[in-house]
Amino acid sequence: MTAQRALFIPGPTNVPEKIRQAINIPMEDMRAPDFADFTLPLFADVKKVFKTKTGQVFIFPSSGTGGWEASITNTLSPGDKVLTSRFGQFSHLWVDLCQRHGLDVEVIDVEWGEGVPLELYHEALARDKDHKIKAVLACHNETATGVASDIAGVRKALDNTGHPALLFVDGVSSIASVDFRMDEWGVDCAVSGSQKGFMMPTGLAIVAVSQKALAAQASAKFPRTFFDFADMSKMNKDGYFPYTPPTTLLRGLRASIDLLLEEGLENVFARHYRLAEGVRRGIKAWGLDLCAKEPKWYSDTVSAIYVPEGKNAVEVIERAYFTYGLSLGTGLSKVAGRVFRIGHLGALNELMIMSALAGCEMAMRDVNIDIKPGSGVAAAEEYYRSTAFDQREKTGIAA
Ligand SMILES: *Cc1c(COP(=O)(O)O)cnc(C)c1O
Repeated sequence: MTAQRALFIPGPTNVPEKIRQAINIPMEDMRAPDFADFTLPLFADVKKVFKTKTGQVFIFPSSGTGGWEASITNTLSPGDKVLTSRFGQFSHLWVDLCQRHGLDVEVIDVEWGEGVPLELYHEALARDKDHKIKAVLACHNETATGVASDIAGVRKALDNTGHPALLFVDGVSSIASVDFRMDEWGVDCAVSGSQKGFMMPTGLAIVAVSQKALAAQASAKFPRTFFDFADMSKMNKDGYFPYTPPTTLLRGLRASIDLLLEEGLENVFARHYRLAEGVRRGIKAWGLDLCAKEPKWYSDTVSAIYVPEGKNAVEVIERAYFTYGLSLGTGLSKVAGRVFRIGHLGALNELMIMSALAGCEMAMRDVNIDIKPGSGVAAAEEYYRSTAFDQREKTGIAA
């Protein structure tokens, strides 16, 4: 293989050259007297991506999973009740993490292909008259099924029932790619990671926390050390960390935030929508179905695609990988063998997306899935042409 492999999994995503170069620097002194000149503005700018003015951001050397754990252990106590829903592998894993911590987890199981069930959340909260539920969990973008959920709707369910529970959101595959409004939606813990929308290598859990969640620490009885918000706050306040921070990744994060803010968050979201829509047009032209059941669930960062009945998606993925150097996402758990996924988040543009569609077409035809050659690419092409604009109008990652 002479060229770079085409990476179309929903994380890790492609790392832009500016970020790679920012990371590729000598080690530095994380207790240097001027280290705060770098970290304090970084913390402030990360908050912009979460759209929070009142919250606080914590950056842990970890991954998204560590962010889940941090949000739970800093705010709750063993035996506390939480309300959540499960409709894919990632929402399942957060349930598992809560159960292993000894939380009393009320899980609403939803068919895979749908998202957070707002009416059922409303009912559960309305039933909970004595406020046993301490936190409500929601997966904003279920990466296993390509399903996006309505977080503003979850906030409404809490407000309409006058319920005081905290609201925790898994935004690992949404934040920095699709609109996320921490303050407006009253999110108390928003969890993300470096290797998806932030276009970085894996290695950071990026968590934004409301004042209400910070206050909950006082009564939260879970043991915590590595992920302790209080230890972090104490040192972060002056720009330092309670333990050795991953300085190279922090430099990368600086470059990532610069790219995102330079392009403009609203432009980043519009680009993700447009790229995703081209993929969806392509899938439709193939005559295949998305795992996401209705347009309201469509994810702008990942599409999970059913192969026809009797076919095995693993064959498509292996053929794409070994023959065309194209990495596609696999079907996880319940949908293993049934779907393959195209990750369309991070540093991507139209031509890159069309290369992925072309690779999918070749791989599918090779394993005898009956699609018309070029049909997906043609549909995406027509959509991108009809929505094209002069690249000079917008600065940006992919321009
Ligand atoms: C990737 C992902 C995670 C897990 O994050 P890691 O960084 O792999 O620990 C959690 N939730 C969602 C929705 C994800 O896409």
